[in-house]
This record gives sequence, structure tokens and C-alpha cells, in this order.
Amino acid sequence: MKSKIYILIGPPGAGKGTQAKNIANTKGFVLISTGDLLRENVEKKTELGQIAKSFMDKGEFVPIDLVAKIIKANIEQNLNKNGFLFDGFPRDLSQNILLDGMLKEFDLEVDKVIYIDVKDEAILERLTNRRVCPKCKKVYHMKFNKPKKDELCDDCGVALATRDDDKPEVIKNRLATYHKVTHPLVEHFEKLGKVIRIDGSKSPKEVENEIISNI
Ligand SMILES: [Zn+2]
Repeated sequence: MKSKIYILIGPPGAGKGTQAKNIANTKGFVLISTGDLLRENVEKKTELGQIAKSFMDKGEFVPIDLVAKIIKANIEQNLNKNGFLFDGFPRDLSQNILLDGMLKEFDLEVDKVIYIDVKDEAILERLTNRRVCPKCKKVYHMKFNKPKKDELCDDCGVALATRDDDKPEVIKNRLATYHKVTHPLVEHFEKLGKVIRIDGSKSPKEVENEIISNI
């Protein structure tokens, strides 16, 4: 049987990373998360990982062709698996062309795009209320997952901090980039009738269940 190919798309702050891990676990899919794959290849000192590291050490982005090679090697190693879940790739239409070419070589194609739909205002509320413990890295939310005492970590008693990534200006910028660069992928796959739209305003567990029951 051919492996199913799923792509997870959603705005920054939609909780994609956690969802991707849980869904892949539940469904027995191979998770292709570009960030994790790069780290893994660097740690294992694979040939491609060492080339990638030379860019990372200079503080440069790893070229997309190299990322694609690493992804392709991973597909090749896991061809007998049920399916693949992509998170973080493709990020735009040109990367989708790369992916398409790669999949064709294995006689595969994208089955469905899981689109976690969350309004910008909801993302802003979610992320600007997020706090993190600088010591143990535990994440809190000042509305939905408050620390027991003021803005202090339950475990360490240390004052919680807002990550630079969670500052409103930064989030607005990331959302604008998402709408311009990544969201066109949703429109592209909508024309092909391949989008499963998930209401991302619900709780993470509800979102996860809805995704799992739809794929
Ligand atoms: Zn802590």
C-alpha cells in the first residue's frame, strides 16, 4: 500500500508542533518536521547533517535544496510506513513544487492538507498571554493556564518571562508573513479539493481529536 502524505498548515501560534507530534504518534505516521530533522541529522553527524551544520555555525539559513535532500533521504528510509505528516515544509508555493517533484520520484502525492484555521485576533490573545519560566522552560498562559501565584513558576518560584517571539509586534509580523507566503498553499490545495479545514479555536485536545477523526 502507498504511504499517505499529509501536510499540516496553520498560522504561527496555532499549536502545530504539538499537534503534529501527537497525530503522528496516534496514527503511526512518520513526522517530517524540518527543524527536528535538521537537528537530528546534525546530532547523528550524517553527511548531509554536517553540511547543514556548516551553515548553522555561521548563523546562516540552511539552503532549501539541502533541506529537501534531508527530507528525501528520510522518505526513502520510511517508504513502508503508513504515512508521512509534514510540519514546516512546504512553507510556500515554490517549496511545494520541490516537494511534488520529490514525491513523484517515489510515486507518491499529497493526499490531504490539514489546515488549522485560527483567526489572527485569537492568535494574538493566545501568544501575548503566554509566559515561560526562564529556569525550567515550563509554559503558562495568563488566561487558560495560570500559575498558582502571581507571575511565578509553580515549580521554581522564579518570575515568568515573555519570550521575544511572543511580543505583539513580532507576532503581527509573523502573521503577515504567514498570510503572504504560506497561506497561498491552502488556496492552492483547496482548488484540488484536498483541504481538511479544522476549527483551531477549540482546545488543543479537541483540535487533535477532530484532526484524527478526519484522516
Ligand atoms: Zn520553572
